Amino acid sequence: MKRKAFIKNSALTALGMTAFGIKSSFSNSMASADTLKVNEQRISNRIFELAKFGLDDKGRGYRVAYTKGDIDGRVWFMDLMKKAGLNPTIDAAGNIIGKRKGKNASLKPIAFGSHIDMVPDGGNYDGPVGSLGALEIIEVLNEHNIITEHPLEVIIFSNEEGGTIGSIGMVGRLTPQGLQQKSQSGLTMAEGIKAIGGNPDNIESCVRHKGDMHAWLELHIEQGGILEREGLKIGVVEGIVGLRHWIVTLEGFANHAGTTPMNMRQDALLAASKFIIAVNEVVNSVEGNHVGTVGKISAQPGAYNVIPGKVVLGLEIRDLSDDKIDMLFAQMEKRAATIANESKVKINFELQPNASIPALTNKALQQTINNASKELGLTTKFMQSGAGHDSQEIAVIAPSAMIFIPSIGGISHSPKEFSTTLDIANGANVLLKTILAIDKGIAGL
Ligand SMILES: [Zn+2]
Repeated sequence: MKRKAFIKNSALTALGMTAFGIKSSFSNSMASADTLKVNEQRISNRIFELAKFGLDDKGRGYRVAYTKGDIDGRVWFMDLMKKAGLNPTIDAAGNIIGKRKGKNASLKPIAFGSHIDMVPDGGNYDGPVGSLGALEIIEVLNEHNIITEHPLEVIIFSNEEGGTIGSIGMVGRLTPQGLQQKSQSGLTMAEGIKAIGGNPDNIESCVRHKGDMHAWLELHIEQGGILEREGLKIGVVEGIVGLRHWIVTLEGFANHAGTTPMNMRQDALLAASKFIIAVNEVVNSVEGNHVGTVGKISAQPGAYNVIPGKVVLGLEIRDLSDDKIDMLFAQMEKRAATIANESKVKINFELQPNASIPALTNKALQQTINNASKELGLTTKFMQSGAGHDSQEIAVIAPSAMIFIPSIGGISHSPKEFSTTLDIANGANVLLKTILAIDKGIAGL
């Protein structure tokens, strides 16, 4: 870009300053830190560019972790990071990390980012909004020659959708067994991490500890429909719910459906039906945002003319409080005991090992996000995240927070996933303001 065009453009959109490098550590007169805004069009364009990587032969998104689409998307993203002066590196767990120096090298970094991998046939916003939003913060700071006190880090976590593998690695919870698990790509986690430039043989080298990060922030789409339904702009995430799964086995007696009188049956499927309704009733009878679901069912032997002798259900409960999950489960067990008695069916619960504990976000950061939103004229709602995120892992080692923007129609993990350009820019502006506020110093951090 020519210098004359550059000056013209920078006045309009603040594009291109990075081509001239960061010359000094003072804010120039173009905008004070309080009025800085992200470039809405640039984020939007980049979301569409990233969406081109990993399309399958039917044109559906397939940027699944460790596949070619993921690898190509990561190369593209790192190229943008390089252009923004972030010198990206890949840690042992395959996370992409870009660093920007602060004025005070003795301070711990303010880190922010998200992920760019997706579920099979997923959408273009879950992950990319927070990843490209994070990069946009760097672009804007570069363009206005602003150097923060704290160093900044943009982190793009690897394989979020396959079990937040990158962030689990970063907090030191990726075990040898975990590395041998198969991923959606068909590769094991270890093979996949190798394929994206990580080093599973030296996984400990990426581990960070308490105190290594000043704060962690993630901008993300809500993935539910609450903000849109209530006409609100920003979700201040209070925490990410914990979840537990149980396999529920109901054993009755399989018998001839024609010759066994109704009062002599031990129908496991009938008991299961009553239990499914009981789960719903228990969940609805208690005040709060918890959810409970029976999402899986199989009946045996599975024939028109045989009374079902055995049913296996999948039960899930999610909430921000482990105690609440305990309490709900205890009530469900009680109802199950009554149903078992009345139906002459045995009901057994088996807790599954994939439970995740609830992760609360930092209160001071929640307030900072709320204040930043209010200053931008954006309405807010304090809410929980019903979906899992890398932030729940990082919350163990650093004060963490999440900023949600509306998902149109509450749709996610689908090609129909959508957030408006304006909402994305709003979220990125809140992220920017929050980072600058943290940099100035927040009580409690
Ligand atoms: Zn996500």
